[in-house]
Amino acid sequence: MKTSVLGYPRIGSQRELKRASEKYWKQDMDATELLLTAKTIRRQNWALQQKAGVDFIPSNDFSLYDQVLDMSLILGCVPKRYQKVKQELSSLDLYFAMARGIQKEGYDITAMEMTKWFDTNYHYIVPEFEKNQAFVLDASKIVDEYLEAKELGIETRPVLIAPVTFLLLGKEKEDGFHRLDLLDSLLPVYFELLAKLVNLGVTHLQLDDPCLALDLNDAERTAITQTYRQIAEKFPSLKIVLTSYFECYGENLDTVLSLPIEALHLDLVRCESQLEDVLASKQLNSTLKLSLGLVDGRNVWKNDYQDSLNKIQQAVSQLGTDRVWVATSCSLLHSPCDLDLEENSNQLPTAVKNWLAFAKQKVDEVVALGELAGQARSEDAVRNLVANKQANEERRSSGFIHDPKVKRRVSRLAPSHSQRASSFSIRQAKQREVLRLPLFPTTTIGSFPQTPEVRSWRAKFKKQELKQGEYDQLIKTETEETIRFQEEIGLDVLVHGEYERNDMVEYFGEKLEGFVFTHFGWVQSYGSRCVKPPIIFGDVYRKQPMTVKWSAYAQSLTDRPVKGMLTGPVTILQWSFVRNDQPRSTTCQQIALAIRDEVCDLEAAGLKVIQIDEPAIREGLPLRVENWKEYLNWAVEAFRISASGVQDQTQIHTHMCYSEFNDIIENIADMDADVITIETSRSEMELLDAFVEFKYPNEIGPGVYDIHSPRVPSQEEIEKLLQRASELLPIEHIWVNPDCGLKTRQWPETKEALIHLVNAAKKMREAV
Ligand code: GLN
Ligand code: ZN
Repeated sequence: MKTSVLGYPRIGSQRELKRASEKYWKQDMDATELLLTAKTIRRQNWALQQKAGVDFIPSNDFSLYDQVLDMSLILGCVPKRYQKVKQELSSLDLYFAMARGIQKEGYDITAMEMTKWFDTNYHYIVPEFEKNQAFVLDASKIVDEYLEAKELGIETRPVLIAPVTFLLLGKEKEDGFHRLDLLDSLLPVYFELLAKLVNLGVTHLQLDDPCLALDLNDAERTAITQTYRQIAEKFPSLKIVLTSYFECYGENLDTVLSLPIEALHLDLVRCESQLEDVLASKQLNSTLKLSLGLVDGRNVWKNDYQDSLNKIQQAVSQLGTDRVWVATSCSLLHSPCDLDLEENSNQLPTAVKNWLAFAKQKVDEVVALGELAGQARSEDAVRNLVANKQANEERRSSGFIHDPKVKRRVSRLAPSHSQRASSFSIRQAKQREVLRLPLFPTTTIGSFPQTPEVRSWRAKFKKQELKQGEYDQLIKTETEETIRFQEEIGLDVLVHGEYERNDMVEYFGEKLEGFVFTHFGWVQSYGSRCVKPPIIFGDVYRKQPMTVKWSAYAQSLTDRPVKGMLTGPVTILQWSFVRNDQPRSTTCQQIALAIRDEVCDLEAAGLKVIQIDEPAIREGLPLRVENWKEYLNWAVEAFRISASGVQDQTQIHTHMCYSEFNDIIENIADMDADVITIETSRSEMELLDAFVEFKYPNEIGPGVYDIHSPRVPSQEEIEKLLQRASELLPIEHIWVNPDCGLKTRQWPETKEALIHLVNAAKKMREAV
């Protein structure tokens, strides 16, 4: 049975590409060396797949920064503002200028926009289109990479982003047209490219068309049909493999089944039922091959071979072996590279490690499944199957994962657990009495600058070069200084500064049961940026308080209220690899209960204000709108569970970073936080519109200081923003705060900006 991999991580198992490109940007490395690093990674990736025995190995899945940006350049879609760069600098520097902006040697040009790749944590560079957009082919990247592999004796299946998806991923930069109108001028360039590839000897081409995972309208579906028809007409010998992933084809299924293609890929991890639907469909013709995406490209768990083999069998019995391929569910871009790099440690016990598979292991899984599904099973393959069965059996029944106490607690959740004792207006009155805050109360979002020094303490403590006592003392001193600073400049609700935290999810993951961590489990987030998500493998609970020590210490230093600082259940879930043996909603409830316990302990320790950050709530939204409601129900419920264990007097804040709230404002309101702080400064308060229109009932802190830039806003600017907010909201509901945490800022600018912020608030009070 034929096997295929849709794409392989390109950052390098030791993040070689990250290091090299960052050096290149700093001019510590020349282009030759950077390109050599890239070439080495490609070779390693191909060699590894060839050695494993993959039939369809991808090329052009590599990227120096982002595959969508690559595609923009292949199609000559370069925004006008880069014309000068294009003429004067190398194509490599043009590429990075588009990705990152350029501010040197007389250039000052902003980067192209970046946005999330579907519902993953990967970010792509958004193509920009103008009304008379011209497209010009530059096939060098894809051709070179194909030939590079060929020289190594590896015949690859090049990957391209399909025309309609490419257009839909982009943005119109002018009025008066829709980007889909550009299809007619775009297609000839694709044809030119395909002709080149066919001439080189390419037989199979993978066209990634993941817009098919979204709700499409008829015009979009028609555009897709026309595209594939024309390709088939012009290139009858080229075998097109259409891939979409992350969701079912849904309403688009009939369309894709009627296309003249060689094979259709199904993501059976995200949409298990799809196989049955396809097999039962009257549209299914007698030659179409199915690429079964059985090996999860988005998560870290070992495949269940028996389960996969059952599905393969189901397809084979109807279609025959020749028409069924085994594949990864999507590109392995979203998986960490290699589990073999992980040494056994208490961070990642052997028992848990044995349940995991990263990209390299997933390649082996695809091949193993192909062999197990074939006629002759080798002894090795059978041994493999037995070991796989054992590992999965063990995982299912492990006492390590299943904690009856946690399950019991979740099963006993009642509506009262997600309900504060009184309604907002009653709580608000009681909180006012306790907190006695002025109008326009000032606060920050939690973190203060994480200086290299602070980072070095944490690093040394981790390496046991600092003893607990020494480390605690350093953090305490820094915290005290931060409290004094906040008192001095006159902030109203203080924070402890989060110096003890590396990352807002990792910190809690390390303290909670049910999590493990890797050393090298990096996944590309954008460009050279990688994240290392914790792995939630088992029932989650809190063994002991996680933040009380630091928050209580900070509160002991001052008479002003200090805000306890927690990460919310949805965000912890969203930024981790999550176990796949129970619904995400159940795991989220478990985390919610753990956070609830912490909230109650903070209250008991004397904290009168507690913030539960939920910046990731919006990014958890399913790709299809029909599934939103279900997600929002449990996500909001989880937040409410975490927040509802306290008395009316205790003020619960939540915080969300930049995001559009229009379509989910009702749900945000339903979270019923006493105060919400959001990012608004860059949009000139435009992001408040949703709250205004909805008549958001609780208190709001629209950010008035853009913390993404070292620039210090003047007091007047902040006043202007507050003035604007006062026109939109009841003034007794308005808080004054930065857009987000200050951990990436330097102290000098932070001090100056916060002084301006406090003074602006004072000015506003005087004017009332
Ligand atoms: N409390 C966190 C901080 O201040 C919030 C970070 C975030 O919203 N991403 O850093
Ligand atoms: Zn934020």
